[in-house]
Amino acid sequence: MNITEQNITIEKVKQSKINQVDFDNLSFGSVFTDHMLVCDYKDGAWEAPKVVPYQPITLDPSSKIFHYGQSIFEGMKAYKDKEDTIWLFRPLENQKRLNISAKRMAIPEIPEEYFMEGLKTLLKVDKEWIPQNEGSSLYIRPFIFASGEGFHASPANEYKFIIACAPSGAYFSGKVKVLIEEKYSRSANGGVGYAKAGGNYAGQFYPTQLAVDRGYNQVIWTDDNTHEYIEEAGAMNIFVRINDTLITGPTSDRILDGITRKSILEIAKDEGIKAEVRKITVSEVVAAAKDGSLKEMFGAGTAAVISPIAGFGFRNTDYDLPEIEDSIAERLKKRITDIQYNRAEDTFGWRYKV
Ligand SMILES: *Cc1c(COP(=O)(O)O)cnc(C)c1O
Repeated sequence: MNITEQNITIEKVKQSKINQVDFDNLSFGSVFTDHMLVCDYKDGAWEAPKVVPYQPITLDPSSKIFHYGQSIFEGMKAYKDKEDTIWLFRPLENQKRLNISAKRMAIPEIPEEYFMEGLKTLLKVDKEWIPQNEGSSLYIRPFIFASGEGFHASPANEYKFIIACAPSGAYFSGKVKVLIEEKYSRSANGGVGYAKAGGNYAGQFYPTQLAVDRGYNQVIWTDDNTHEYIEEAGAMNIFVRINDTLITGPTSDRILDGITRKSILEIAKDEGIKAEVRKITVSEVVAAAKDGSLKEMFGAGTAAVISPIAGFGFRNTDYDLPEIEDSIAERLKKRITDIQYNRAEDTFGWRYKV
């Protein structure tokens, strides 16, 4: 089916709940807009997407999502500039990645126009919900899960693609303390770490809770085989700065190909910041922390853009990072958010007008 904004049906809410929302005190991802996009997969094809009132979903207890975890998602944001224009940031990257995740989880891929036309239609219907205050944005959560029924351990024959949105305030985590994890793994070679598959995050909760119990905010994942290489920071990509060089690990089966990570690498190149994509050993980071050449560490992802790390724990020793004046993290964050909010020229062509 050929999908355009014209053949997406819209059923509006009778009464908007927007007046009940305090836009000056938004937390992250806990208030939802009036509408959502729903698209069903049946009889081997995606049906036309529909915009409907945000509402609960009824599922059969045997739906495969509950038993076999066929579930994937994306995370993106919409921004509103001073002229009320709505912008997305590299949305086709999210659409492509959703399909990379879909393929790995034996979920049918969603065609580009279903995703993009559906998203644009939803954003136009809920445009009043896109916050305009400094640092706020509309967090967008596209996801697909197996709604098809039966206890047989095989891919479902029915799926739902939904886009739900949550107006969210400036995401400020403060400086986080992280623990380098050597026992548990987030992902493995041949596994699903490169997919945004729901179960990846479920598997992180317990080790993260153990780290939180020890006074850390987050876990630094190392490779499952040797635990010698630093791979990701929680559900974010990780960067370390040793002297004046930024380093991040290469994407792989185990490391998710983050759009923020990719954008940071391009900005670094543009600004003449030295950046290397190579494996990072735990031992070099510890040695750099000891001799003072470790200047910065930060996580990179859509929600926080950049989340600075204040220090890390490794084998019962804590290492603090120095307080620095002109951090590369701050500089990169400003450059990215200025593009996202249409405050600066976008020489990369990343901004997408809705
Ligand atoms: C989503 C995600 C990231 C960040 O990706 P962005 O596209 O930058 O938001 C990094 N690591 C993991 C494990 C993720 O799930």
